[in-house]
Amino acid sequence: MPFPATLPAHLHRTVHRVGRAVLNSVLPPRCLACGVTVDEPDALCATCWNAMNFFAAPWCAVCGLPFAHPMGEGAICGACAAKQPYWDRARAVMRYDKHSRALVLSLKHGDRTHIARSLGRWMHRAGAEMLDGVDLLVPVPLHWTRLFARRYNQAALLAHAIHAAGGPPVAPDWLVRRRRTPSQGRLGPLARSRNVRGAFALRPGRSVKGKRLVIIDDVLTTGATVEECARVLRREGAAFVGVMTLARAVRAGGP
Ligand SMILES: [Zn+2]
Ligand SMILES: [Zn+2]
Repeated sequence: MPFPATLPAHLHRTVHRVGRAVLNSVLPPRCLACGVTVDEPDALCATCWNAMNFFAAPWCAVCGLPFAHPMGEGAICGACAAKQPYWDRARAVMRYDKHSRALVLSLKHGDRTHIARSLGRWMHRAGAEMLDGVDLLVPVPLHWTRLFARRYNQAALLAHAIHAAGGPPVAPDWLVRRRRTPSQGRLGPLARSRNVRGAFALRPGRSVKGKRLVIIDDVLTTGATVEECARVLRREGAAFVGVMTLARAVRAGGP
């Protein structure tokens, strides 16, 4: 019997675990956000854990933004009542603020991508209800010029981590970015929406007709990017479009 070219999965896991154990004995584990040494690998220190604003129910049944008071089963927020987005449902792990920003920035640094594994586990847990019965995870794509410069797409990294935590399979290249869009950083909501209009397309030859999909990204701010991705998937016949992000900006004064 020829020697297998790749290690069987269980052996691979063992090698990985042993490798990690060796690494951990040399390098003490560090807090995912601030970098102080911690007891457990892939964890936050107590200070960072307490500082993070994790979303918790009661929340809007559509967009997942927490309510200050219980509103009853299936209640939706004012924004969702006023305008139904192209996606069906959105969930996020935590509020996007100065604390969670450290995690998001870490993910964009090539030497700290190992934190994706923990973040993916959190996203899998926070989105469990929505991810149930989903066919594919669709990461928001980077334009190839950006991908070339950064070497990886942090949204795809998170999608693979959610899958590794027990989530649905990933369709890493089904959505494509047709043109490079200027950075959204300084733009207002309307300008952001104009900025991404027509920027995405379904890769030729792929079909999402009747499929249940969840778009994955690191941060949702105004939502213009995922809204445009959702519009494309809807137009192509997706049966369900969810949005799962690690962090989500909340306007002052709540949803
Ligand atoms: Zn910390
Ligand atoms: Zn809402």
